[in-house]
Amino acid sequence: MQAVIGNWKQNPATSTDVTALLDALLDNIACDDALNPEHSNCQIMVAPSCIHLYQAADKLKNSPILCAAQDISAHSSTTGAFTGDCSATQIKDSGASFCILGHSERRQYHQESNAMLLNKMQHAMNKDLGVILCIGEKEDEHKDGQTLNILDDQLSVVQDFIQNNPEMTEALTKKLIIAYEPVWAIGTGKVPTVDEVTQIHAHIKQTLSGVDNRLADLSVLYGGSVNADNASEFAKSEMIDGALVGGASLKADSFLAIVRAFSRS
Ligand code: PEP
Repeated sequence: MQAVIGNWKQNPATSTDVTALLDALLDNIACDDALNPEHSNCQIMVAPSCIHLYQAADKLKNSPILCAAQDISAHSSTTGAFTGDCSATQIKDSGASFCILGHSERRQYHQESNAMLLNKMQHAMNKDLGVILCIGEKEDEHKDGQTLNILDDQLSVVQDFIQNNPEMTEALTKKLIIAYEPVWAIGTGKVPTVDEVTQIHAHIKQTLSGVDNRLADLSVLYGGSVNADNASEFAKSEMIDGALVGGASLKADSFLAIVRAFSRS
C-alpha cells in the first residue's frame, strides 16, 4: 500500500490553526476523488503534536485521513508516574491509530535507543496501535559509507520484537510501516537521488523479508525534504511506497500535491 504521512512536529501554534489545516485537507479531498484513499490506494495520515491529537482525531473521525501520534511512552503502556509521557493506551483513546517511533529528532534530542524503541513497539502493538518506524543515517555516516550498517542496526528492533513476540508477526505485517529518512536530508532541502533511495529501500525490504518472509510486503516510505516539486520523481520508483513529510505537510496545497504524486503511481 502507498501512504503519505504528514509529521507536523511541534506545529502549528494554535488549535485554530489545526482546524484550518484539517479543514483545507478535508475540503480538497471531498472535491477530488483522486485524493480519496478509497479510490487512489494511497493512505493519507497526519501526525499532530500530542496536545492537538484529540482535536485532530475527532475531526478526522469518519474521514479518509488517519491520525498518528509522534511518539509514545517507553515506560508503561497504560498509566503511571511518568511525567510528560503519553502512553499507548492514552494515544489509542485519543482516536489515533498509529504512532511514529524512532524519528531522528527523538533519537537526537531524547536519546532514544533501540532498547527504548523495542519497549515502545511492544506497547504500541499490545494496544493495537500501528507503528511508523523511522530509520536513517547521519551525514558523517553517509559520507563514511556506513548507511546500510546503520540501517541494519536500527532494523534489529524489528527482529528483536519478532523474537520476543513471534505470535504478533502476522499483526505486524498490517501495522508496521518503515520510513527511511536520511538525517542529512531532513529539513535541509538536500535529497538523495531516486536511484540511491531505490537501492536502499531494496536493501530494507530484503533485510525485513530475511527476518520473516511475511514482512516482505511492508510499505517503505522515503522522508527528507520531499516537496510538491520532487515528489513525482520519488513516486516513479516501485521501491518507494510513499513519503513521510515534515515541512511540506504544514500547507494543504503542498501536502496534497505529494499525495497526488503517489496516488498516480
Ligand atoms: C521529517 O521530519 O520526518 C521530515 C521528513 O521533514 P522534512 O520533510 O521537513 O524534511
